[in-house]
Amino acid sequence: FLDPTGRAKTMTGACVDITDFVRAREALKLADRQKDDFLATLAHELRNPLAPLRTGLHLVQNINGGMAGQGRRVLGIMQRQLDHMVHLVDDLLDIARIRQGKILLRQESLSLQAVLEQALEGVRALFDAQGHVVVWDGVDPALRVTGDLTRLVQVVGNLLNNAAKYTPRGGRVTLRGGEASLPGMLLIEVTDTGIGIPPNMLDHVFDRFAQVQQHLDHAQGGLGIGLSVVKGLVEMHGGRVAAESAGPGAGSQFRIWLPRADTPAPAEVALPSSP
Ligand code: ADP
Repeated sequence: FLDPTGRAKTMTGACVDITDFVRAREALKLADRQKDDFLATLAHELRNPLAPLRTGLHLVQNINGGMAGQGRRVLGIMQRQLDHMVHLVDDLLDIARIRQGKILLRQESLSLQAVLEQALEGVRALFDAQGHVVVWDGVDPALRVTGDLTRLVQVVGNLLNNAAKYTPRGGRVTLRGGEASLPGMLLIEVTDTGIGIPPNMLDHVFDRFAQVQQHLDHAQGGLGIGLSVVKGLVEMHGGRVAAESAGPGAGSQFRIWLPRADTPAPAEVALPSSP
């Protein structure tokens, strides 16, 4: 805050000239922009060689109708690692584009049921591989959201992916969608029986590069940006996100609110400060 002479006082009571504050803030903003630019360039450069690698691997996998034994196993491992890398680089690209305002949404009226089913389809193999049970009862086919199909499937897919990743083998993941108590919104919930999130981390899991558990195997772990992509995309749709957990070992619940298709445009929907 400012003292009567126009100098600013820090939390510790030290006096600093206000112009130093402004200069420091501008320098931080510039550094942040440069970091975003660097991440975008890095992600582009990493993405380029991945496409031919994928095609090449696909060709080798199908030589003479497919390899057998050890060769097949090794190619399978390479495929999974490559998919993981593509996923990480795509997240990096997305977070850079969201921050630079370079993502364009193709907004249309979508069936909520179709969005959730497509997202589920994309993670079925992972759930099967981990022996998780998926609870999914479908939603009222009349419910529609306004949004970009590819991006919303990505958002829900990301939450489901995390639920699978942070739940020990043989867990249960529940996907629900339906009416929300927030006016003009529909609600999507992904609930798992996994490792849970400590209370002090709940507000931070959507931050860039936030990770609660550092000890995951590298093929499983990420960069801590998946949820910030989720939040960025949902907010671009005019929606909200929230995470809940009763703590370590108690499972987690991720909720997203999206604008219904039959209500005014997202910008006109008034949201309370906390859902
Ligand atoms: P990551 O690539 O590390 O999974 P995310 O941004 O998707 O990055 O998630 C950030 C952090 O939030 C994760 O590292 C993990 O600690 C925590 N997290 C996300 N989803 C869950 C979940 N379903 N259960 C427990 N922890 C989770």
